[in-house]
Amino acid sequence: MADCLFCRIVAGEIPATLIHEDDGVVAFADIRPQAPLHVLIVPRRHVATLNDLTEADDALVGRMLRTAAAIAQAHGYADRGYRTVFNCNGDAGQTVFHLHLHLLAGRGLGWPPG
Ligand code: AMP
Ligand code: ZN
Repeated sequence: MADCLFCRIVAGEIPATLIHEDDGVVAFADIRPQAPLHVLIVPRRHVATLNDLTEADDALVGRMLRTAAAIAQAHGYADRGYRTVFNCNGDAGQTVFHLHLHLLAGRGLGWPPG
């Protein structure tokens, strides 16, 4: 999608600090980090929200989550702990409508979230 911010990052048209990329997903640093480590893991293919996933995407979502776990591990947070979040639509505060998994680590994270 030409007008999608994260599609443009995936295509290399907008710069980002890349953390990981493979044939299915791209991970890059959040531009407004909410924790010492704040990474977004996105599918290469445009998917707007969690509501738009189908059974055919089950492996893709697994890849996103395992990529988050691998990045957390690589940065030394596997044992200490970290959080993964998908925001979906307005009440959850989704602002970019290209599916993304937040990985947050490096500080104590409150619960329940705001
Ligand atoms: P959400 O509110 O769940 O839709 O999250 C969108 C995230 O994208 C926010 O945490 C933003 O800080 C982040 N973001 C917006 N623009 C960029 C960008 N150009 N590069 C990296 N992260 C971005
Ligand atoms: Zn997109």
